[in-house]
Amino acid sequence: MMMHEPPNLVGLRGRLSHRVSLAKYTTWRAGGIADSLYLPADRDDLASFLRQLTVFEAVTVLGLGSNTLVRDGGVRGTVVVMHNPGAALAVMDGLVYADAGAASPKLARFAATHGCVEAEFLAGVPGTVGGALAMNAGCYGGETWRYVVRVEVLTRKGVFVVRTPADYAIGYRSVRRADGAALDGIFTGAWFRFPQGDATKARARIKDLLARRIATQPLALPNAGSVFRNPPGDHAARLIESCGLKGYAIGGARVSEKHANFIVNPRGGAKAADIEALIAHVRETVRMHTGVELEQEVRVVGEAA
Ligand SMILES: Cc1cc2nc3c(=O)[nH]c(=O)nc-3n(C[C@H](O)[C@H](O)[C@H](O)COP(=O)(O)OP(=O)(O)OC[C@H]3O[C@@H](n4cnc5c(N)ncnc54)[C@H](O)[C@@H]3O)c2cc1C
Repeated sequence: MMMHEPPNLVGLRGRLSHRVSLAKYTTWRAGGIADSLYLPADRDDLASFLRQLTVFEAVTVLGLGSNTLVRDGGVRGTVVVMHNPGAALAVMDGLVYADAGAASPKLARFAATHGCVEAEFLAGVPGTVGGALAMNAGCYGGETWRYVVRVEVLTRKGVFVVRTPADYAIGYRSVRRADGAALDGIFTGAWFRFPQGDATKARARIKDLLARRIATQPLALPNAGSVFRNPPGDHAARLIESCGLKGYAIGGARVSEKHANFIVNPRGGAKAADIEALIAHVRETVRMHTGVELEQEVRVVGEAA
């Protein structure tokens, strides 16, 4: 096996480290190591980083890892972690701008504070704005791309381009290039247009939506939200529960008793392989009992151990 050659780069302001466990960079708190991991200082620093990487270096992007399973064998090449607690949020020309590394709940609160409504749904999506763009995250009737005016994307070669929704084919938890190709580049920022409204009501709605989540989701245990997309006209959780799978466990991974479409890692000791085997078991059981083929919403990256 060829050893990974750590990139030797100059003039960077971010943090580059090697052989880093990705468990703490995903909300499932499971998975293997990244050969290299880069925490960019900002968008320009990330551009400089990408320009210095050879074209042979594989690059994988993570936001807050709240929709991602990293396999136990880890990720070859460099993982870029976009989440940045200092990420910028701003109001400009009637639009709300967010760096891709900002947490979505921060964007929701920022928008509400500035008299915008309908961004409240993002308060309960515990990822980054970049992750919300890549997934077209949504809930409670809201969906990320409904409000996007334009995005800034950094290509693998380190060049910034600005795109609009017309450049994408956008669907339920799905975003592709307009020609159907998979997403390319890294989202570095986005401009949103949210309707103007009552800031007090928006803040109250955020409170209400978060309370609903606490009541219905196993938020105290490591998880990655809904594992499967809802099939048309139905709910994955209902189908899984109807098969008696609540509480079913493989290794350290368990189907949540509180919400059947969540898989939890209650003692923090689950292998990614346990989680993946449980996902496969749930899909197969639901298919056998109901005839419905559930589609995975969570993304799986890396190699098996
Ligand atoms: C408790 C809980 C509740 C959740 N509820 C919801 C919900 O209601 N609705 C919903 O839609 N989701 C929900 N999720 C799933 C998840 O939070 C969202 O999909 C979120 O948008 C993912 O953001 P992230 O930054 O964590 O992405 P990650 O998991 O880090 O990445 C997900 C994908 O996006 C890509 N990506 C991330 N950042 C970028 C970027 N800057 N540029 C290009 N690609 C990028 C990654 O490569 C990967 O393919 C929930 C998760 C949890 C844990």
